[in-house]
Formats: sequence, structure tokens, C-alpha cells
Amino acid sequence: MNEQPARAQQEADVLVIGGGLHGTSSAFHLARRGASVIVLEADYVARHSSGVNAGGVRTLGRPLPEIPLALRSRELWHTLPELIGDDGGFVPSGQLKIAETDAELDECRERVALLNAHGFTHETLIDRERVLELEPALARHVTGGIWVERDGYALPYRTTTAFRLAAQRLGARFIERTPVARIEPHGERWLAHTPRGTFAARQLLVAAGAWSGELARQAGEPVPVHPEGLMLMVTQRVAPFCRATLGATGRPLSFKQFDNGTVVIGGKLIGHADLPGRHGEVDFMRLVKSARTVVDLFPHLRDLGVNRAWAGVEAFTDDALPVISASRTASGLYYSFGYCGSGFQLGPACGQVVSELMLDGAPSVPLDAFAIDRFGRETREAPSAAVDHAATH
Ligand SMILES: Cc1cc2nc3c(=O)[nH]c(=O)nc-3n(C[C@H](O)[C@H](O)[C@H](O)COP(=O)(O)OP(=O)(O)OC[C@H]3O[C@@H](n4cnc5c(N)ncnc54)[C@H](O)[C@@H]3O)c2cc1C
Repeated sequence: MNEQPARAQQEADVLVIGGGLHGTSSAFHLARRGASVIVLEADYVARHSSGVNAGGVRTLGRPLPEIPLALRSRELWHTLPELIGDDGGFVPSGQLKIAETDAELDECRERVALLNAHGFTHETLIDRERVLELEPALARHVTGGIWVERDGYALPYRTTTAFRLAAQRLGARFIERTPVARIEPHGERWLAHTPRGTFAARQLLVAAGAWSGELARQAGEPVPVHPEGLMLMVTQRVAPFCRATLGATGRPLSFKQFDNGTVVIGGKLIGHADLPGRHGEVDFMRLVKSARTVVDLFPHLRDLGVNRAWAGVEAFTDDALPVISASRTASGLYYSFGYCGSGFQLGPACGQVVSELMLDGAPSVPLDAFAIDRFGRETREAPSAAVDHAATH
């Protein structure tokens, strides 16, 4: 393979590997700051998690280190039209996590107290009456929950495409069907080798979702990251009965009814991930369990048909936090991946903070918890992040 970039159009200030929401948002924010950007995408923009997720725009239940980023992102979700000229289909429906037993309500109480102790007030503990006032169709056994009014949901493919289009308007170039096989430093630049030739830039951002681990390994920074095939299903249309986006405390659930009447059901439902084949597979037996949860909570949906189910490939790290970091071993190299099933909401702000990290060396939101070299020391230094995350999904 040619070691030198053949043509000027294969060079930019920044190369971004991956056209998911994190790649497109980073490209947008970098281009907005004046950087020339090339995004290299193995398939097509929004083909994977960023285009097929549940669309949950949720600050609720975040692990503590993610909260400042999630709150920053929420502000951007509420002003997306000004930022990128499209609202991404964002609906500020609120997000509600319900408790089904007294013990679960105690868990919610402890969670809100923990957040308050850290100065976060965006999650509110609510009682059974308030839950049923918000969602009258819910089964009567609920005991209360946590409510976040400014959360909601959006359309994943539309949002990621909108960031891509906004970045393009600022001059960013997107090159699809161009998988990066290998990255390497070359003098003061980074080279990305692809079947369409070699691309070069002084700065390189790895935002390749579940495929990022291999690129980090090539750069000499292995990360404990693995793929999972996360599943969703969508039902037939049904008359409006639920406005908020719902989760549960004691069992996995992510549930929302769209304006067209369909209901999207998920919640960390794990199918199969085929990383080399670049696709996810549905495991129907596991979907059944989720369908049962939904019928427990909304008995009137018992006979509702499921129209479609699918799986997307998502990156999970060992401590359930993403990697948003400058390389610790090489200059000009940056990472943004490993969003563990919750990266859609973070996309708008993460791109902004990554652009600050790359262009200023000083992100406006602390990223220490997401450093690429944290693995191996996290059990000594930050046990609360992983424990808290596990408790909330
Ligand atoms: C079913 C499902 C439901 C979800 N629900 C929610 C939710 O409700 N709320 C929420 O906040 N999050 C949710 N998520 C998580 C969220 O979708 C992801 O965290 C987020 O989209 C990750 O974005 P990304 O840009 O890091 O990765 P991706 O979207 O995977 O994008 C990475 C891109 O990199 C490309 N790529 C990979 N390797 C290479 C290479 N070598 N060269 C060039 N390109 C490459 C890929 O083709 C891909 O397009 C869900 C995920 C799934 C799968």
C-alpha cells in the first residue's frame, strides 16, 4: 500500500474514523471551529448503533461521572435547530423510571439522595399518585419512581444525518464505504490506510463504535471493550396511552410510544453481535422476556402485535463508561467510543467536548473518568461509577 497520501483531497487537519453520531457530531463541532475534516466510514453514515437505537434522550440514571456531559448534551438537544438546523425529531416527553415494590422505591430514594449530595437536582423522586397522574394507563401495582421532565426521545437516523449535513455545510467531507484497515503515525501526521488509499492528518479521532478496540490496539493502547448486539422491537399502532419515555427500576425496560402510535420496546436486551460481519442478530427468546415486562405494566397491550425487531452492534467497556480521551502514548491521536448502550443522548455534547480537547487541549467538561489509561486502576480509584451504572439499567 502507498505510504504517502496520493492527493491533496486525502489530507485534512483532522481525520475522523466512524460516521456514527459521535463521529458526525465531532466532525460538526471541529468544522465549526474552522478545522478541515475528513470522516472515513466503513459502511454508510448512521448504519450502526447511531442510526438504529431506541432514541432515548435520557439524563436519568446516568453514572455520576457522565452527568455533567449528559446535562450539557440535554441543553444542546433543546436547542438543536439553532445548532444544526434540525431538531432530530426530539420530543421532550420526560423520562420516568418506575418502581414496582417498596424496596425499589427505596432504591430510587437513595439514588436521588446520592445525586443531591453531589449537587445534581435533575432527577426527582415521585410517589405512586404522581406516577399514575403522569401515566394513567400504568398497572396499579407501581409504587413511585424517578421523573426527569426535560428528558425525552428523538429519531436516531435523522439526528445523525442532521449532524452529518451540518458538518458538510461547514466543509467536512464524508467518505463512505471506506473501512480503515490500519492507522499509524508518520512524522507529525497520522495515516489511515483504506482500500481507497491512504488518508493523512495531523490529528486523528477514533470514533468507530464497537470496532474501535482494534484501532486502539494498533496504536498500542488496548482497551477492555467488547461488542454486544442490542435489540429493539416495534409494535403495531395503538391509540395514544403513554407520553413519557419509561424505564423500570427492577428489570430492564426502555419503552416509548411515538406520535404515530407505534411502541418501541428495548432496555439493554442483548442479542448477538457479529463484529467481523458488521451486523447484529436478534434473539427472539430474549425478546419474549421484555414483552412480558411490558404486558405486566400495560395489561391492555397483551394482544398487540410486534411489527419488527432488530439488533445493533454497540461497544461496552469493562467499567461501563466510555473512552473520551487523548492518547496517553502518542500525540495527535484521540478516542471517543465505548458508550455502553447510552451514547445517543451524549452525542451532541461529546462532539463539542471532543473538539475542545483536540483543538484547545482543554475540554470544558471534565473527562478524567473517561481516560483511555484508566483500566486496571479503576477498581482502586472509582468503584462508584460502575456500581451506580449497574444499579440504574
Ligand atoms: C438497539 C440499541 C438501542 C439503543 N438505545 C439508546 C438510547 O435509547 N439512548 C442512548 O443514549 N443510546 C442508545 N443506544 C446506544 C447508542 O446508539 C450508541 O451509544 C451510540 O450510537 C454510539 O455511537 P458511535 O458513534 O460511538 O458508534 P456507531 O454508531 O457504532 O458508529 C461507529 C461507526 O464507525 C464505523 N466504523 C467502524 N470501524 C471502522 C473502520 N475501521 N473504518 C471506518 N469506519 C469504521 C462503523 O461502520 C459505524 O458507522 C442504543 C444502541 C442500540 C444498538
